[in-house]
Amino acid sequence: MAANKRLLILPGDGIGPEVMREVRRIIDWMDRRRMVTFDVSDDLVGGAAIDARKTPIADSTMQAAKDADAILFGSVGGPKWDTLGFDLRPELAILRLRKELDIFANLRPAIVFDPLVNASTLKADVIKGLDLMIVRESTGGIYFGEPRGVETLPDGQKRGFDTETYTTNEIERVARVAFELARKRQNRLCSVEKANVMQSGLFWRQTVTALREREFPDVELSHMYADNCAMQLVRAPKQFDVIVTSNIFGDLLSDLASMLTGSLGMLPSATMGAVQASGKRHALYEPIHGSAPDIAGKGIANPLAQILSFAMLLRFSFSMDEDAALIEKACVNVLGTGLRTADIMGPGTARISTNVMGEAIVRELDKLAA
Ligand code: NAD
Repeated sequence: MAANKRLLILPGDGIGPEVMREVRRIIDWMDRRRMVTFDVSDDLVGGAAIDARKTPIADSTMQAAKDADAILFGSVGGPKWDTLGFDLRPELAILRLRKELDIFANLRPAIVFDPLVNASTLKADVIKGLDLMIVRESTGGIYFGEPRGVETLPDGQKRGFDTETYTTNEIERVARVAFELARKRQNRLCSVEKANVMQSGLFWRQTVTALREREFPDVELSHMYADNCAMQLVRAPKQFDVIVTSNIFGDLLSDLASMLTGSLGMLPSATMGAVQASGKRHALYEPIHGSAPDIAGKGIANPLAQILSFAMLLRFSFSMDEDAALIEKACVNVLGTGLRTADIMGPGTARISTNVMGEAIVRELDKLAA
């Protein structure tokens, strides 16, 4: 019997609580069938926390996040809170979590499940069997670099500027996460920058190369310019195993890669920090979609991205690879039977609601674990 694992669940707004309910169904199933007991606590975040406590995330919730072994986040925001000032936006909850937990490596898998191979805009043979992981540095680079601003020049023109900046430590810590991931996969890492035209890009390349020589000589490392990487992701995405890149390039490339799979409602993500002296690593798992206010309350949201985020949590925070694989397989099998939520309908499929999808996955788990 494994020791209890502290799990903080923050469902948030819109469809967040609806899809999180289906994860709770799976946690209950695991309690019963897999003999894993989680210490689960729930809290308000985003607009729900603003309504109840006048803050997007309370200090007590932040403390619970710091104490937890892993955080499962839903999504925040919606029209109800759109008119609030910038200091009271639901999105500040996730920004504060990222900053105070110092979680800097954003992991975005792009996996194409066989039953959904036709959901992509790309040809089936280009993406069938695709399984790649993009690791994006998410707390540094040009989105945070100083100096930044808009200044008036002597001739009266204005000049806007931002600064791309990375230190050795910032590059090494995110590259380390990517090398470690590659080791657990196909052992191949592609580091992406613009070393041809950017000093910081050349420094990124040299730093990743030196780190490999020191700590990861067994991992195959290649380098690619970001513009070429964008092209290669569309031309032949299966050539990649793990990609590591800066904040801005990762922002663009991970959105591009996620759309190879065709559906927002299917895509999980993780954001993690460094391993601390205690051995603990802060990590937050969330679907890449938002709170989908246009469909909230209708019972039609696709819960799979949230469920697959939970599978990532099991794999990366708790090393429960077998349980993660079981949940992923249950999702694929259910899709294989033709059951679909509205967003992933295709010819010859049957439309079901959020909770019927959750029930179908639990039934499939029962079958797989029998
Ligand atoms: P969105 O991802 O919420 O929705 C985009 C479209 O995809 C909508 O038509 C929606 O119905 C659909 N969709 C999204 N998830 C789905 C699912 N699981 N099943 C079926 N359909 C799904 O993006 P948006 O509309 O740009 O943003 C809505 C709100 O969410 C905004 O307030 C935004 O700020 C917030 N948001 C939050 C996060 C987060 O919490 N991390 C991320 C993105 C957007």
